[in-house]
Parts: sequence; structure tokens; C-alpha cells
Amino acid sequence: MRIANVSGRLALLRADGTAVDVERASGGLFGADPQVVYERWEEFRAWAAGAELPEGEPFAAEALGSPVPAPRQVLAVGLNYRAHAAESGFAVPEGLPPVFTKFVTAITGPVTEVTLPEGGNTDWEVELVAVIGTRGHRVAEADAWSHVAGLAVGQDLSERVAQLAGPAPQFSLGKSHPGFAPIGPWLVTPDEFDNPDDLELGCSVNGEEVQKGRTGDLILSLPVLIARLSAVVPLLPGDVIFTGTPAGVGLGRTPQRFLAPGDELVSHIEGIGELRQTFTA
Ligand code: ZN
Repeated sequence: MRIANVSGRLALLRADGTAVDVERASGGLFGADPQVVYERWEEFRAWAAGAELPEGEPFAAEALGSPVPAPRQVLAVGLNYRAHAAESGFAVPEGLPPVFTKFVTAITGPVTEVTLPEGGNTDWEVELVAVIGTRGHRVAEADAWSHVAGLAVGQDLSERVAQLAGPAPQFSLGKSHPGFAPIGPWLVTPDEFDNPDDLELGCSVNGEEVQKGRTGDLILSLPVLIARLSAVVPLLPGDVIFTGTPAGVGLGRTPQRFLAPGDELVSHIEGIGELRQTFTA
């Protein structure tokens, strides 16, 4: 199953790519707010599996919002691919990798224009994003997938000057400018993948591929992350986990390269879809 946020309303996507408005199709059983559906995720899944859906409506990619527009918690994980830890000049962490947040106001839909912060170095980080469907505290690794509503493509856009300045890094602020957390283009449930633990992901700048990896190379897989994170923080329905980025970020290049006005960044994950960001001064 694929769900989307079409012009701010929860929609189910049909196989032909059209969208069915959930509030109307369910006769009001489920509301239009895309964030609220995660509170009743199992009930919604059961309804969607048995519902006789009407014809869908076509929609433009620009009409899509984030399939998870207002999570209560966003947990983002750093240094979770070996080659990326190396290019960043950090040792592979033992135990838990660095965890930070992307503040909720940074979240957008999949196709956007992003204003580059003045005096900054804005970098790309394509990431698998997982959305929590059922609350979990001290989740066992073996049970972790059952707590996941679905997967989406995320960009952990990062302003490196602020991120790395100061006596302690400012990961959360440096990664939370408006538009720095595009998520989408929709949410795909785990059962849609042959192997949801091993998906190709990557991104390109102006058509040049800069990152390409596989989630099978995550140091801590999504189930391990859910177990370790939920050992501390109860995960709530609709929460978001950014799982880390593979190698190829601008910071790790020689010479370094950052996003400039006019650049177009396209990010993709196998079996999900793509994000498209353009940048302005
Ligand atoms: Zn990241």
C-alpha cells in the first residue's frame, strides 16, 4: 500500500498512480489529516486492504506534501555507513551512533524550492526514512518491522558551517533550516518490498550522480536502530527516523562541493520514488 499527502489531504494511491481521497472513500471513518492516520494505523490498514476504492484522481508531483507532515519526534542518525563515516573523518561509532533531531518545521513534501542559508555550506544526504505505525518502547529487534508503518525517501540537508562550529557540534540546528527535511514522495508499506532491508538509494546534482549506496550496508539496520532508540525513547505513531546517509556527500569530496543557487538535487530509493529540490540564494 502507498499513501500520500495530496494538497494536504490523506490519499491512497492506486496501482495506476491515481489518488483516492481517504476521507471521502471511507465515508468519514478516517479523516483528511495525513498525520492523524498513524494513530489508528492497524485499523486503517485493515480498512484499506478490504475497501472497494472508487476511481482515483491524477495529481501533480508539486501537489504532494510530506506523507508525515507533523511527527511528534524526528530521530536522525549520523555515521551509519562505514564509507560515509570515513569520508567525514570520524571513526565508526561503537554502540549507538550520534542521534540528533531535525526540527519539525524543516519538513516539506518531495518537490520544493529551498533557500540556501546565507554564509553557509549546504550539503546533501540522501536517507531512508522510516515512519512508526504503532507505539514501541523497548522494542525487540525481531519485532521492529511490525512497528513500522512504511518507508519514504528523505533528504537530510545539512548546513556544515553551523553543524561543525563551536565546542560541540550543532547537528540539529545546522540540519533544520526551512525545507531541509523533504520527505516523500509517498509512504510505501514494508510488505511492498521483496527485501525492505536492502534497497538502493542515491542522489544526483544537476544530473551528476553524487551518492549511491544500499541500505543493506547500514552499520545499524533499521530493526537494530528501532531496538536501540526505543530502549531510550518510546517511539510514537507517526514518528520519523532518518537512518543515515551513504558516502558521497559534498563535505567529503576533494575539493569539497556544496549546493549553489540554481542547482537541482534529485534523490531516489528503489521501490519508493524520488525527491526533487531546487536551490535559490
Ligand atoms: Zn544524515
